Formats: sequence, structure tokens, C-alpha cells
Amino acid sequence: MTTHRIEQRRALRTAVPGPRSVELHARRRAAVPDGFGVTLPVFVTDADGGILVDVDGNHLVDLAAGIAVTSVGASHPAVAKAVADQAAAFTHTCFMVTEYEGFVAVAERLNALTPGDHEKRTALFSTGAEAVENAVKIARRYTKREAVVVIDHAYHGRTLLTMSMTAKNAPYKDGFGPFAPEVYRVPAAYPFRYRGKPEECVEDALAKLEEVIATQIGPDRVAAIVVEPILGEGGFIVPPPGYLPGVAEIARKYGAVFVADEVQTGLGRTGDLFACNDEGVVPDLITTAKALGGGMPLSAVTGRAEIMAAAGPGSIGGTYAGNPVACAAALAALDVIVGDDLPGKARGIEARALPRLRQLVETSGVVGEARGRGAMLAIEFVQRGSNAPNADAAKRVAAYCHANGVLVLTCGTFGNVIRLLPPLVIDLDLLDDALDVLAEGVAQLS
Ligand SMILES: *Cc1c(COP(=O)(O)O)cnc(C)c1O
Repeated sequence: MTTHRIEQRRALRTAVPGPRSVELHARRRAAVPDGFGVTLPVFVTDADGGILVDVDGNHLVDLAAGIAVTSVGASHPAVAKAVADQAAAFTHTCFMVTEYEGFVAVAERLNALTPGDHEKRTALFSTGAEAVENAVKIARRYTKREAVVVIDHAYHGRTLLTMSMTAKNAPYKDGFGPFAPEVYRVPAAYPFRYRGKPEECVEDALAKLEEVIATQIGPDRVAAIVVEPILGEGGFIVPPPGYLPGVAEIARKYGAVFVADEVQTGLGRTGDLFACNDEGVVPDLITTAKALGGGMPLSAVTGRAEIMAAAGPGSIGGTYAGNPVACAAALAALDVIVGDDLPGKARGIEARALPRLRQLVETSGVVGEARGRGAMLAIEFVQRGSNAPNADAAKRVAAYCHANGVLVLTCGTFGNVIRLLPPLVIDLDLLDDALDVLAEGVAQLS
């Protein structure tokens, strides 16, 4: 049981954003390009558990966790101490120049915790995009093939290759081409937007995957199939049972490396350490980031030793890859995630929140579906009386939540999804309070 430094209660002293945030935001606009969007322009001074404190003294409920990063909270004392101790000893050597134990220890932990009991190796980097990009490099080197298969609604990052692998044009790709070649896209299993039964949705998606491999790529040309077990930025789309094992099976059949991008879903978020565990799927390579560093930038590719060995000495890495301060933070965060059973806490969040979100489907007329797993939950907004996406409703409800001190994020290819990603350590009473605000926000639409 974590006790919190900051009282876990929503409290507003000013409008949100308040006058000091407004002033700082004006200063920001004169110094920072608007290309960095912002969900809620408040400036944070303190954060703990499920609460963010801003410069105007407002206490906001955090249902974003810095996009699924601060699962253990944004200032967990064990993480803060590990960071301070490591920074006092040394901040950097570059692991490719001289080594340090923290890097090895994080690799050992991930080799042990990730799905499958085969021999594994882990390479550390700094960002999720870097992990995904390196997974593709390693898969290409191992298979001596070039083609990468990705899924509709996928999000894999903002570098050239991962942007190319990402589905949504604006704002991620528009004007940023030409894109990396040899990236092929197949339909997702998206039950809410599929006209038919869930089993058929899976059958169709898998059949299309095989068809694209056979007809557009060539069965002996696929290096990797890269899948988010639950699609994140694309709308928190949960594929029906059978889909993920089916993709893994197809990858095996064609000799392609099966890469699970668990950058957002991994490390407890979905109520299990990894979303792949839900159906016992063992990926060849798995990418992690976001929650891994307990707030510090750290990412990883973990996978079969023989595949990871394909990248020869000096062929992967990076100046900051597996930074020692980030590794120290990760070891502390992993201790909390495993030791305090944060996957169990995620299941508790689902049990508390999902029924309330489902009520909104019954009562509102504009929430088409409530879905998700663990503490990765979402509602998809539709036009009254149809399934047509309703981005305006999502935007208005998010604005209502923000004005009332609850930080939610939107997502989805159509911009019509509100997603909930609270820190896994959030108080359930605080969560209830935030869900009240969300329900009010939905109610005031009509
Ligand atoms: C966030 C995310 C990424 C990119 O991570 P960055 O650290 O922002 O580069 C990649 N894949 C998935 C599934 C993500 O959610």
C-alpha cells in the first residue's frame, strides 16, 4: 500500500487553465513550435499517485499517466531515490564505451518477465519508436528479407520508419513523406466497426493478412509482422479472441518474425504483465517502453536469442541507449510493478470503471462502445442513431473533463475516442470522482 505525499482529491482554485498557466503558455508559444501539440495547457509543478498539481494550485485527476508512462505514479519514492542515487554516482558512460550493471540487470529482468521461457536477449534504447525501429532492423537482418507487415489503425512512433508503419495520416504523416519503403498494411480486427459476428471479424482479418502476403508481397519476402496486441493511439481497439494467436501462426507459417509492440500495453497496463499473456501468445520479439522507465526514457527489444544475435557487434545501439539513470529507475519501477501487483490493480480499475463506461452506452445515445482491458479503457463516440464517428462529442466531453479538473486523452483514427490511462496506483475513490465528471460531461451533450 503506497501512501501519497499529495492528498488524493480533486480541487480547483482557478479556471483550468488558470492565469499563471495561461501566461506560461504564451511564453511557450514564443519559444516552442506549435508542432508540439498539447492536450491541456496547464503547467505542472508536482505530481503524485493520481494527482497533478499545476502552477495555479489546482489539483487535477490524472487519467493520462503521461500517455501510459507513470504506472507507478509520477514521483514514486523508490523511483525518485534510485534516480537520485544513480545520478549522484554517474549519469552516463555510454554502454557501448564502458559498461554498467544496471543495463544488464534490466535486460535480465525483461528476459525473465516477458512471455515464453526460451533463451532471450534484451537490447535497451531510449524511446518506443527506437525500440520498434530496432526490432525491424533485427528482423530484417535475421530473415535476410525486407517487407514489414503492419495493421490498420497502428501507431508505432514518429521516426521515418515508425511513422511509415503508423496508419493515421494527419497529424502524424501529412507532409512528412516520402515514407520508408517495404511497409505493407492489412486490415485490423475491429469488432465495433465490423458488420458481422466477432468470429467472422477475426477470420476476415486473418484471411486478408494471408492474401496480402501471398498476392502483394510474396510469401518468402516478409521479414516481420508487427502488431499492437491492443491498438493504442488508433482507438484502444481490442481484437476478438483468436486474432493474436492467428497472426502469430501466420508469421510462423511464412518464416516471418512476429513482433508484439507492447510499448503501450506492456508492464501491467492491461491487467497482466503483457497483453500477449491474455491468450498465451509468445512473440519472437517484444518491444517495451512507456511504463518501463518509471517516467525516465527507456525502451527495449526483448526476444529469441538466435534472432537478437543476427545484429552483429556495433550494428545496433545509441549514445544514450539504456542510460544508467533510466536503468536505475526501471529496476525500481519493475520492483513496484511486480512487488505491489500493479497488474492486479489494473484489473481492479477495470472492475470499477468498465461497468460505469458501459452504462454510458446504455444511457447516452452517443457512446457506441465501451471497451478495453485492465487500466487501458475507452469509450467511442458515435452520431445519435448510427455508428458514424462523432469526434465533436469526444472533443466536447474531453473539454468538459479538463475544465473540471480531470485530465483525459482522446485517440482513434477518427478522433472520436476518449481513453482512460490512469496511473495503476490511483485511489479507486479518486477514480470514481473522475468518472462522475466524465459521466456529467457525456450528460451535458444533450
Ligand atoms: C507510444 C508508442 C510508440 C512510440 O513510443 P515513443 O516513446 O513515443 O517513441 C510505439 N508504439 C506504441 C504501441 C506506442 O503506444
